Amino acid sequence: MDGTLALGQTLKTAFNNILTVKDFIAEVCEGEIYKVDYNGTEKTLKWYKKTFLDSLDKKFYDNLNRTTRTREPSDKFLWPRDISEFLNGSFGYVMDPIPAGYCNMQNLMLGKLEFKSYRTRVDTCLNIVDAFRELHNMGYSYQDLNDSSFWINPEKGKVLISDNDKVAQDGEELGILGKPRFLAPEVVLGKTKPNTQTDLFSMAIILYIILCYNHPLEGIRYLEPALSAELQEKIYGSEAYFMMDPDTQNPNKPSPKVHKKSIAIWNRLPNYIKQLFLNVFDQYSIKNPSYRPFEVEWLKALTRFRSEIVDCSCGNEVFTKNGESCRCEICGKKIKVPFKLVLRDYAIPAIKNSRIYRCQLGVDDNSAVAPVASIVPTKDTGELHIWNKTKDTWKAKTPSGKSKDVTPESKIPLKDGIIFTVNGQEIKIEANKN
Ligand SMILES: [Zn+2]
Repeated sequence: MDGTLALGQTLKTAFNNILTVKDFIAEVCEGEIYKVDYNGTEKTLKWYKKTFLDSLDKKFYDNLNRTTRTREPSDKFLWPRDISEFLNGSFGYVMDPIPAGYCNMQNLMLGKLEFKSYRTRVDTCLNIVDAFRELHNMGYSYQDLNDSSFWINPEKGKVLISDNDKVAQDGEELGILGKPRFLAPEVVLGKTKPNTQTDLFSMAIILYIILCYNHPLEGIRYLEPALSAELQEKIYGSEAYFMMDPDTQNPNKPSPKVHKKSIAIWNRLPNYIKQLFLNVFDQYSIKNPSYRPFEVEWLKALTRFRSEIVDCSCGNEVFTKNGESCRCEICGKKIKVPFKLVLRDYAIPAIKNSRIYRCQLGVDDNSAVAPVASIVPTKDTGELHIWNKTKDTWKAKTPSGKSKDVTPESKIPLKDGIIFTVNGQEIKIEANKN
């Protein structure tokens, strides 16, 4: 045991429970993490350093106490469940432990976290954006959004978010600014305190790191041998410049040597994804925080992007366009996409494991990232079908004009010219010509 609390130490909690310290897990900058027994179940206790609490007023305790009494926005949050009594001027809060298979996102930039595939990276981004949409819809802001709070399952693209002790009603100030590299420039410059809008900036940094392998503001300027406080204030605040800003005067371009991987993936990304990053990080957007895209715009773009990723037999993942056949840029092989699904605004390839999400049909409520359909092979012939994953019966029309009901859980074969209606929107199955 290296912590302040003794093994076997018991503490009463605000909800009249008893917790028993079982093990010391780690020291973090604001305190210590312990494994505890809480009413017979294993939980995690974050115990604050007294020096951290001394830097804050009682508002921090009151806010956290309130948070334990409200429901979590979704199961993606490791929500504070209970608060311990005070001991020697400090206290802690109880949360669920991090399950096996999850890895802290800080390992990603250290090269110690490998995703199963690029599609899993996109899934991770979708889950992060969905979590913040749920949090913000409840009127909260996260306030201290940084990479250490994200726990990623790199096999499944699932995410858990910890450190919810600073979550507060939007506009409430707890006296905490957050982790420097992840702050919005207007927070670095002291123009505003963390809020929902600054969360959107920090979230975009996280998404960029996952999709483009680098911090968006850490181009060549970040490679200077000595990163003085003054230079850091420039990089993240007064002269923040996106490494991929196409402006010819950009003083913070990527280094062709160090940022080779970032440059290559940026060049391959679809324009609608690049545009969202530019709408956060280009010079106009940095100076106009209200221009930042909301979660729903990210969800629409990311679900579309996920649909466009097709596997090549060489192991590469190819980003298709308009749901059509294409060539693998690595091995040169033609990737045949026999059918596409034509939605209102764009088409996606109809390939195995493709999904259509509700937000692709214009839905932006809580169910935005629920899949309405997925494309699966039949057990006997392996032929691809569209599977109705909703609770509604769809109307389908064959090319010869026959109408059919597609009940929940039933499937439509991939045949040229079939049109089916989901959520009031027509989707057409179209055979690709080449
Ligand atoms: Zn290939």
